[in-house]
This record gives sequence, C-alpha cells and structure tokens, in this order.
Amino acid sequence: MHRAASALGLSLLLACGQKEPNGVALIGATLIDGSGGPALPDAVVVVRGSRIESIGTRAGFQLPERTREVDVSGRWIIPGLIDAHVHLTDGNAGVLDWALPRYLAFGVTSVRDVHGKLVTALELRDALGRGTREGPRVYSAGAMIDGLPTTYADAIGANRPADARKAVDRLVNAGADFVKIYTRIDPALLGALLDEAETFNLRVTGHLGLTDAVAAARAGIGSIEHLTGVPEAASRSPSSLYAAHYRSFFAGWTAFERSWAGLDSASLARVAEELVRNQVILVPTLILHETFSRLDDPALLGDTILKLVPEAEQRRWNVPDMIARAGWTAEDFAAFRRSRPQQDLFLRQFVRAGGTVAAGTDAANQMLVPGYTLHRELELLVRAGLEPRDALLAATRNGALVLGKDSLGLLAPGNVADLVVLSRDPLADIRNTLALEQVVIRGRVLSPDSLRAGW
Ligand SMILES: [Zn+2]
Repeated sequence: MHRAASALGLSLLLACGQKEPNGVALIGATLIDGSGGPALPDAVVVVRGSRIESIGTRAGFQLPERTREVDVSGRWIIPGLIDAHVHLTDGNAGVLDWALPRYLAFGVTSVRDVHGKLVTALELRDALGRGTREGPRVYSAGAMIDGLPTTYADAIGANRPADARKAVDRLVNAGADFVKIYTRIDPALLGALLDEAETFNLRVTGHLGLTDAVAAARAGIGSIEHLTGVPEAASRSPSSLYAAHYRSFFAGWTAFERSWAGLDSASLARVAEELVRNQVILVPTLILHETFSRLDDPALLGDTILKLVPEAEQRRWNVPDMIARAGWTAEDFAAFRRSRPQQDLFLRQFVRAGGTVAAGTDAANQMLVPGYTLHRELELLVRAGLEPRDALLAATRNGALVLGKDSLGLLAPGNVADLVVLSRDPLADIRNTLALEQVVIRGRVLSPDSLRAGW
C-alpha cells in the first residue's frame, strides 16, 4: 500500500514535471537592481521558486523549461521595498494584523520591527517566515532595552552595566535579530550593552536620549533612529536637552525636536562627518518629523489616505490624547516646523560625506499608514536633497545593509525573489514608486488590487 502510494506520487510528479511551470520570466522591463549602477533596459528576470534564477536582456534570451512568460515591456522593476523602522505589535492591541496586507500592497516586502511585545513580535516574525501567515518578511528587535524606569512597559529595563548585559542575553535567548536601545540608555550602559551584543554578533541600533550621537558612534553603535543624539552632539550646551530626557520621554522628544533650528551648520557638518567616519547608518524617519510637526494641521488629519486605516486603529491612535500627553502647543508645532529644514540640511551633509541612509517610517504609530508611508519617506528624502536613485537605495540596498542581510534589496541571481513592477519610472519622479502593478515576494506574484479587495 505504502509502495503503491509512493509510486503514484512519483508518476504524478513526473507528469507535472513536463507541464506545470515552476518559474516566471519577467520580460522587457527596465531593471533598477538595487546596486546603484545604471538601469538595465529590456531586461529579463527569471524567478524560480522563491529565488532569482537569472538576469539578462531580451536579446538572445531563450525561455527555460517550465517557465511562464510575463510581458512587462514599458515597465520598471525594482527590489521589494524595505521599511527599516516599524512596529507590528502594540502593548494592548497585540499584533496589528491590519498592517500586514498593507505593507505588501504598497510593495514593502521586508520590515525591520524595532520594538514590540517580545514574544508576540518574535512569534509573528516566525509565522510570517514559515508562511503560515501572509505578510512581509520581518526582522525583529523583539523588545527594546531602556534605562529604568522604562518609557514603555514592554521594554526590558536596565540600570547597571551588568543588567544591560543580561538584557542583551535575554534577547539572544529569545531569538531577536538585533538590539534596539531607547532614550534612557546612558553611555555607561551603552558600552556594556555593545560589548555584550558584539559577543553574539548582534547589531545595535539606538533611539538616543542620554547618549549623544557621536559618543554612541565612537562606542560602536551600528545605526541611529530618527536623527536622535545629533542635536545633543552638535549643541554647545546640551545640558538642557539631557535634563529634558531625564524628566520624561515627551519632554526629551520635544526639547530635541525644537532644538534643531538653533544649531549652526558647521557643528552639524562636524557631527555628520564623525558619524560617517564611524560607519553609522542613519534611519532618519523624516516622515515622522514631518507628520508630528503638522499634527495641528486639519489637512493632515483629514488626509484621504486615512481611509486605509481601520476605525479601531484610528481610535488607538487617538491623536488629541497624544498631543495632550505630550503637552504640545501651537508654538511647539511651529518650532518643530522650523526644525525641518535643519534636519534636511544635516542629512545632505551626511550623504555628501559618504554616509548611508536607510528609509524607515515608524508606522503604525499615529498617522503613519503602513506601506504607504514609506513612499512618503522617499519623497521627503528627495525633497531633502537626495537623488531619486539614492532615495530608492535607502529603501532597498541600504535597508538590507542595516539588517545585515545580503540577499535582500538587490536583484541578482541567487538572491530572494522580492521585487516590484512599476508602471512609471521612479528615477524620473520618486513618487512613481506608488505606480505599483505587481508585487513579488518569495517568488509569489501578488496583485495590489486583489490585496486591497481583501481589506
Ligand atoms: Zn519607533
């Protein structure tokens, strides 16, 4: 019986082997492969299983066996996008399920989850990796490490260097992909934490508060979120900023965000060069700064894109409550807006000095719609002075760099088959990354329209 069943299975497999395609050849698009090199016109990308099998041009191309042809003439192919700063779980709400199909529908095939509920976040990552759930690839910090008292209840707290090491060990045992530290980590804690993380070959990223960006860079931090620690490093008198970080999270954030307008460009340039020298990757999340600087703008709150956000989620966001908790006034918002050009200036200095920028958003925090917001971040990076090509690299190759994952963000034989087909040229206008026709993740071709139909 067992033998007969196997024989039948084998013959079915052989029969299928002659007919059923197990690969796709995308023929005729202009390929922007994520290397930063020139685009390849009239390209052929062959995807088999979950990997890219070959890349070439139409001239002389012969369709391999078991391969379905898809004509994508007149289109553009880019690597699947990477959002380098997201949150997929919430202390109260658990997994933000609604966010997952939105990432895919907007061409975001990988996300870097920089804090959540430790076990919930890592279980979600594993379920998506196994394919038992549909959504982007997830690389997760699990829960972040913060000084005591921690800003968030689900963070891991540490007040002494020995405890900071233990906190890293806990993340290692839980299976976190990297370490995220928060505002209350001071230089002494950071030193111990970096040393322990290095032992386990884990990257460390920081939303800095009590440690300035240059000190963190010299200590060996891998990346910095939200441009934090930059004003503290550039200011001649950072003591009021540190006092604010000690007072409370929102006091620290408000003082940090307001301080940019008073910083001089020579000091900012010096910080930029120091970060480049220490090979720190920046995840500036300009869309977070931009959005929070306009929370008093009725046009922002009435944005039609919010139709993409379930009502329950909009209630969780509760923007008026956040503004009240932060104590933000009209004057604060005006000051935040004055800071934006300085943040852009700093980013230009950093890029000109040879620095690496990865695109991240902080979705799904208030008003930051998963997936869509990454396209807004690219637009803001271009507005800050990056070339469209470099903005695109920020959401592809550089996202892979900050994760330390070679196979992502670069379309090359053997790499994962995560890519996006666009109907318009993103190098002509970065907003064309929104002209999404098809999204391929792990070799599976998805249509953004049918994903949207499932909402
Ligand atoms: Zn965040």
